[in-house]
Amino acid sequence: MAGVPSLSNPPEGGRYSPGHNARAPAFWVSRSVKHTITLIPGDGIGPEVTNAVVKVLETAGLQVEWEPQAAGVLAIEQSGDPLPPALLDSIARTKVALKGPVTTPVGGGFTSVNVGLRKALGLYANLRPVWNIPSVPSRYTGIDLVIVRENTEDLYSGLEHEVVPGVVESLKIITEEASERIATFAFEYARSHGRKRVTAIHKANIMKMADGLFLKSVQKIATRYPDIVCDERIVDAACMHLVMNPTQFDVLLLPNLYGDIVSDLCAGLVGGLGVVPAANLGSDIGVFEAVHGSAPDIAGRNVANPTALLLSALLMLQHIGERAMADRIMTALGNVLSEGKVRTRDLGGASGTREFADAICAALSR
Ligand code: ATP
Repeated sequence: MAGVPSLSNPPEGGRYSPGHNARAPAFWVSRSVKHTITLIPGDGIGPEVTNAVVKVLETAGLQVEWEPQAAGVLAIEQSGDPLPPALLDSIARTKVALKGPVTTPVGGGFTSVNVGLRKALGLYANLRPVWNIPSVPSRYTGIDLVIVRENTEDLYSGLEHEVVPGVVESLKIITEEASERIATFAFEYARSHGRKRVTAIHKANIMKMADGLFLKSVQKIATRYPDIVCDERIVDAACMHLVMNPTQFDVLLLPNLYGDIVSDLCAGLVGGLGVVPAANLGSDIGVFEAVHGSAPDIAGRNVANPTALLLSALLMLQHIGERAMADRIMTALGNVLSEGKVRTRDLGGASGTREFADAICAALSR
């Protein structure tokens, strides 16, 4: 499986430093090769946070040739296609992409580029580590959980039609194959990252067939991992437990839609959408993007927090073998946040996207 994150909580009250994390090796070995990476700036706040992250990566010394590609509304303007073949070809070739958010029109218009991309490239696993970033104000401390979201089916299949006027049908597709595949990913992740428990989230009491199949598939795969505890929660109860006592969870395994909703809930536990990263992983391709969307309400105002995309980029660095660089950037980010002088608005500061990125670059050079 692709490289997955080990960046985790700093010691209580201390400055962030690499090597404190028991799950991470004590040192990383960098391959220091030149990488070719597809870059999708996206729209809304996408170009702002992407520029900020590219600047930090290049300041850290990443040897990279970017292949910039348009998607969504910008791609329609250029080529008439929201998900152009050139974009898919680029990722199929480079095998790795850093992606800003791409707006999906609500209630009509083109189908989601984000969903289309995941399906077209077989990115079946969406990995979302949720933990307390150094000095980021949040309702809880000690949160360190990982969301594993199935990425290709469920109600995201886009199979909707009008049965008769006034009645529509939206099809929830759950297959044994995709459920077993994502369950295997979750248990493999748990095993290779010292995680102890995988909790399957479902609504199998109501959707006895669809969620029932998901749950049965997870339980079948769990028998191959006797070292990992497997339990399950009904999604509504899981939300309550997450809000009341989030530290009880370790790895959460969810079908697509519950994964989307629970991800935003979990982001709210650790400081908001500005700080939660994600990786879309297939058998040999990784597309790294933040959990948040294009946030049109704050686009173009230099106020978006680039942390979520930067943390996604750190997952990407780990994926491509640049672990030492990921750790160095994490240290710089942690130190800027701990010092508290330069922060974006969502974290209670007054600094802009660019100023925040500049502060991380300065911290890298110290
Ligand atoms: P999608 O459905 O595409 O994921 P969404 O409806 O969840 O999108 P977002 O675009 O993620 O909505 O944004 C939700 C709110 O969170 C926005 O209104 C914005 O104020 C805030 N937000 C999202 N991302 C950031 C960020 N990087 N920095 C600061 N605030 C953000």
